[in-house]
Amino acid sequence: MTHIAVLGSTNMDLVVYVEQAPRRGETVTGRDFRTIPGGKGANQAIAAARSGATVSMIGAVGDDGFGTRLRSTLEHSGVTTDHLRTVEGPSGTAHIVVDDEGGNAIVVIPGANGTVDRLVPGDEGLIASADALLLQLEIPLAAVLAGARTARAHGVRTILTPAPVQPLPPELLAATDLLVPNEHEAATLTGLADPFAAGAALLDRVPRVVITLGAAGSVYLTRDAEPLAVPAPRVTAVDSTGAGDTYVGALAVALGEERPIREAMTWAAAAAALSVQREGASASMPYRSEIEARYP
Ligand code: ADP
Repeated sequence: MTHIAVLGSTNMDLVVYVEQAPRRGETVTGRDFRTIPGGKGANQAIAAARSGATVSMIGAVGDDGFGTRLRSTLEHSGVTTDHLRTVEGPSGTAHIVVDDEGGNAIVVIPGANGTVDRLVPGDEGLIASADALLLQLEIPLAAVLAGARTARAHGVRTILTPAPVQPLPPELLAATDLLVPNEHEAATLTGLADPFAAGAALLDRVPRVVITLGAAGSVYLTRDAEPLAVPAPRVTAVDSTGAGDTYVGALAVALGEERPIREAMTWAAAAAALSVQREGASASMPYRSEIEARYP
């Protein structure tokens, strides 16, 4: 089995649904409230585990009720949490107001994620034993960098999702094998709106890039070949939250199984297409048997 390590965030999303978001000083009555486990790190870990890998999560939760639930959500999907620390204080939370037009406003409180600023004893051995390390940018950059360097030193493939998008230090890019931005992140990183142009520019900094294009699929760029575009299955999307994380988790598993890139991207697109047809982020992520049943 492919072994994937994920170094990243766990968050509890606290979502209120309201006709119209309140203005400053205003109080409104909303319609519904949900607590939804998330965080890009945890989401990618769950996606990879459900698509058939052995997955270990490195990160932190708080010593509150959210932390307990975040840990059990990971474990329920088969993710190993031995390297997920419980620290004093609150878990990471995202406070999300969704209005009737589908617009949202979000405040993220890093909480325990903010304490993940370096590797601790044991993390290095775990990363060294993995086939790939998945990284995002919802924990302090120092830890992301330490993880990438450790993986690189042990010949472990590093896959970086540059979200939330921010300037990427050259040392991090130098230790990245595959960068997977969505089209908006690729545009922000390069100043180029066209994904092929943005991808070409990113190849000056990393050897391989996959840019996800929502319903339009994804494109792979590398220095020594023509770009490869892979379409997404045509489906009716009801909730695309977590689509990118589902795609990355499944892609990492397929690449770990030594599948050629086109096949790996097709598999990842199949997993993501299944997830957008259901409500929720991690809750909507498909299991391997579902992906294989729908897209053999
Ligand atoms: P993010 O979730 O990071 O914004 P994208 O919107 O690019 O990323 O989605 C990631 C992947 O999920 C896409 O490459 C595609 O394979 C799949 N996907 C997203 N939206 C749809 C959709 N409406 N129909 C089918 N597949 C989708």
